[in-house]
Amino acid sequence: MTTSASPAITALPGAWWQRLHASFMPDYNRKATVYWWAVVLVGFSLLSGSVLQLLALPWASQLQVVVGTAIAMMAGLVPIRIPRSKNSFAAGEIFVFLLLLLHGPAAAMLAAAAEGLTGSWRTSKRWTSRIASPAMASIAMFGLGSLLQSVIASAKVHGLYGPGLLLLATMASAVLYFVFNTLLITALHHLKLSRWPALGAQFAESSWIGITLAGSASVSCLLFLAFEQAGIGVLVAAAPIICMLVATLHYFFGQQEAAELARHQKMEAIERVAEMSARHLVELQKSERRFHSAFTHASIGMVLIDFDGQVLQVNDALCELIGETDSSALTRGAFNKLVDLPDAPRLAEGMSQLDTPGIDSFTVELRLRHRAGAKVWVAVHGSHFSEAGANAPCLILQVQDVSARRQAEAELQHIAFHDSLTGLPNRRRFHDRLTQQLTRSQQAQGRQFGLIFLDFDRFKLINDSLGHAVGDDFLIEVARRIQQHLRPQDVVARLGGDEFAVLAEDLHGDREAIGLAERLLEALRRPFYIGNHEIITSASIGITFSGMGYATPADMLRDADTAMYKAKLAGKARYALFDASLHLEVTQRVRLEADFRRALAKGALAVEYQPLYDLASGQIMAFEALARWHHPELGQISPLTFIPVAEDVALMVPLTDFMLRTACAQLRQWQQRDASLAEMVMHVNVSGHDIGQPNFVARVQAAMVQAGIAPRHLTLELTENILLSRLEAARPALVALREQGVNLSIDDFGNGYSSLRHLSSLPVNSLKIDRAFVADLLRGQGEAAVVQAIIQLGKSLGKDIVAEGIETEAQVRRLLQMGCQSGQGYHLSRPLMVEGVDALLYDLIHQRQAQAGLPALPSPTLCAPPATTGETMAALLH
Ligand code: C2E
Ligand code: MG
Ligand code: MG
Repeated sequence: MTTSASPAITALPGAWWQRLHASFMPDYNRKATVYWWAVVLVGFSLLSGSVLQLLALPWASQLQVVVGTAIAMMAGLVPIRIPRSKNSFAAGEIFVFLLLLLHGPAAAMLAAAAEGLTGSWRTSKRWTSRIASPAMASIAMFGLGSLLQSVIASAKVHGLYGPGLLLLATMASAVLYFVFNTLLITALHHLKLSRWPALGAQFAESSWIGITLAGSASVSCLLFLAFEQAGIGVLVAAAPIICMLVATLHYFFGQQEAAELARHQKMEAIERVAEMSARHLVELQKSERRFHSAFTHASIGMVLIDFDGQVLQVNDALCELIGETDSSALTRGAFNKLVDLPDAPRLAEGMSQLDTPGIDSFTVELRLRHRAGAKVWVAVHGSHFSEAGANAPCLILQVQDVSARRQAEAELQHIAFHDSLTGLPNRRRFHDRLTQQLTRSQQAQGRQFGLIFLDFDRFKLINDSLGHAVGDDFLIEVARRIQQHLRPQDVVARLGGDEFAVLAEDLHGDREAIGLAERLLEALRRPFYIGNHEIITSASIGITFSGMGYATPADMLRDADTAMYKAKLAGKARYALFDASLHLEVTQRVRLEADFRRALAKGALAVEYQPLYDLASGQIMAFEALARWHHPELGQISPLTFIPVAEDVALMVPLTDFMLRTACAQLRQWQQRDASLAEMVMHVNVSGHDIGQPNFVARVQAAMVQAGIAPRHLTLELTENILLSRLEAARPALVALREQGVNLSIDDFGNGYSSLRHLSSLPVNSLKIDRAFVADLLRGQGEAAVVQAIIQLGKSLGKDIVAEGIETEAQVRRLLQMGCQSGQGYHLSRPLMVEGVDALLYDLIHQRQAQAGLPALPSPTLCAPPATTGETMAALLH
C-alpha cells in the first residue's frame, strides 16, 4: 500500500529537526507528523516483540517462518495487477495468512511487515512510506491475528472448531485486516490534507484488494488444513506451485496490461485522429464561411466562373460596379457578356494563359459595360480557385475599378499630346500622326495626303499691340474657325505660336487640298471679334503632298513651311505649293536672314547719301540716306533684297534707328561745315513696319535730339503703298511728326493707287515721282502726260515735287519745263559714301568762296565719320 504527497507544510521547531523534517516530510503537518511517528513506533515495537517471540520457536518452525516471510517478500516484488484498476494483488498474503494459522500473529506480523516493505519499496520513493507501510502492516496484523487466534481458541473450547469455521474466520480476518490497514493509511492522508477523505469511495476503489485478500486467506486456510492432514510435505509441494501460479498470473496480467495499454494507446490515437479531423472539418467550415463572407463583403468586385466562362457567383461590389441590382441575373450568363466587345479577346487571352504550366494567375485591364451604357475600366486578376466540397475547380476573378487611374492617365496623355491653349493636338501628336500617315501611304501606293502649313501674317503685332490675353483668345478663336472648315478626316494641330498645320487625309487629288486651303484663307480673312477689339488679319499657307516621296515627317513639315514662306514672300494672305526649286530659294533666303542679322549686330552696314538738287539753280538741297550692306561672300546686296528680309525677321526697328541716328548725326556735321549748308535737309526712308510701332514718334525725336538737328531738317520718305495700307493706324504718328515740323514725303509716287481723296488728307508735304515715270519721260506723249499730271496735282495740293531717277540732262530740262523744282538721279550724283559727299561739299564751298573772293578751305577731308558705330548699333539692337 502507498501514500501520496500533499503541499501542506507546517514548520516544526528545532534546527536539526527542521532540516530533517523539511527534507523527509515536507508535506507533513504537525498532526500528521505525530501520527506517523506514533504508528512507526508502535508498529516496530510490536514487530520487535514478534521477533523475540519467534526466536523462542524450534528451528524447524523458525525455518518455516523465514521461508514463508521470504516468499511473501518476493511476492511483493511481483504483484499481480488487477486489470482496469489501479490496484494490485500481492500473492504474499497467502503465506502471511498461512504463517498466521501455523505459527500465530508474531510470524504473520513479520511476514506482513516484510511484504509491506517490499510493496512500498516498489511503489514509492519516499522513505516515510517505506517505513510507515511495514509498521502499519504489523499493527493491523497484530490486531487481526490476535483476534483470529482468540476466535479459534474460543471455538475449540466450545467445540465449534472445524474446517468450515476456520475458513470463514480466516477469510473474515483477512477482510478486517484489509479494512484496518486501509484505515491506518487513510488516517495519515486525512491528517496530511486536514480533511476527511471519502471512505466509501476509498473502500469501493480498493474493494478488490479485500476480495483478493479473502481469496488468499481461503487458500491459506486450505493449505493449513491439508498440512494438518498430510504434514509439511503438502506445503513443500504447494509452495512452488503457488509461486509458479503467481508468476504466471503476474506474466499473464502483465501481458494483458500491455495489450490493454496498446489498445488504449491505439484508441487514444484513433480518438486524436478523429478529433483532429473534426477540428479540421470545423476549420474548413470556418474558412469557407470566412471566404464567403470575404467574397460577399469585399470592396472589390469578385466573380466565380467555370472554365466555360459561365458566372457561378458574383458579389455585391461587382454588381455595383456595373450598375446591376439583381446579382442572380448575372449568374445565369457568361462573364464575357459584361465585357466591352473590343476588350473580350484580352480576357480570353488571359484565361488561356492559365493552361500554361507554371502560370497560375493573370491580370488584364479591360472595360466592363455599365448598365447605364457607360464603360468602366477595370483590372481583372484571375486565378484558379477550388472550394472545399466543390466538385470541380473554377476561376476566381477579382475585378478592381481603375477608371480613376485610367482617366488620370488619359488626362496626362492629353496634356502631353495637346496644346493647353486651344486643346488641339500639339506638335508631338501631329508628328506621330504624320509618321503613321507616311508609313501608310508608303505601304498603300496611291493613298495620298496633303500637309497644310499655316502661319498668321501679323500675329506678333496683335500680341504686341493688344496684349497677350487678346492674343491667346485670338488663337483659340482661330483654332475654332479652322476646325469648322475641315473635312471629317482632316486633323489640325497647333505647332506653336501662330503656326497651325492640317493633315488632309485621303485626298482624291491636289485640288482637294488647295480647295481646303482656300476655304481656310477665306475664313481667316474675316474679322475676329475679341473683347472690344476687331482684328482683321490674314494667314499665309504652304502646301505639300505625300506624293513627293517623303521619308520622314520632319522633311514634309519643312517643305510645307518652305511653301508657306514662299506665300509670305509673294505678298502674304495666300497659299503656295511646294516644289523642289523652292527649297533652294528658301534655303538661300534663310541664310540671308541669318547673315543680315549678324551684319546688323556687328555694325557691318553702311550708309550712302544721294544728293537732291534744286533743278533750276543746281544747288544741293538735301541728301537721301540709303542703307548699304556689303556681304563678305555675295558682295553688295541691294536694299530691295535685304529690306524685306529685315521686315520679315522683325529687324526694321534697329535698322531704322541705325539709319536715323547715323544720318541725323552726319547731317549735323555737314550743317556745321558752312553757313550755306545750315539748312541742309536729310531724307530717311522708313517702312510700313516702322510707322506701325507705337513708339515711332519718340524714336524719331530721340534721333533728332541726339544729333542736335531741327525737325524741319528731317524728311521721312514713306512708300505710297505702305502708307495707304496702314493709313488709319499710321495717321496719328504722321500727324504728330508733321506738327513737330518733320517733313513727310511719299516715295515712288505714282506707282501705287492712292486716290485723290487719300492724297489730300495725308499729312505729307512732298511727293517723289517714281523713277519709272522719269525714265519714260521722253519716250512718248502719254508718259510725259502722266508726269505732268503728277506735278500739277502736287502743286494744286501744295506739295513739293521731287523727281527721282534722273539719268540725263534732257530729263532735267523736260522736268524743269514741266515745273518740277527738285530732282535726284545718277545724272546729278550717284549715292556717295561720306568721303564722297565730303569731297562734293568741299568743292561746293570752295567754289562759293572763290566766287565770293574768300581764302581757300584747309583740306578736302572735311569731316570725321559720324558718331554711330558698330558698338552703338549693337546697343540699338538690344
Ligand atoms: P528709294 O527710296 O526710292 O531710293 C532711291 C533708289 O533709287 C535708290 O536705290 C537709288 O540708288 C536709286 N537711284 C537713284 N537715282 C537713280 C537713277 O538715276 N537711276 C536708277 N536706276 N536708280 C537710281 P537703292 O539704294 O537700291 O534703294 C532702293 C530702295 O530701297 C529705296 O528706294 C528705298 O525704298 C529702299 N531703301 C534704301 N535704304 C533704305 C533704308 O534705310 N530704309 C528703308 N526703309 N528703305 C530703304
Ligand atoms: Mg527713298
Ligand atoms: Mg524712290
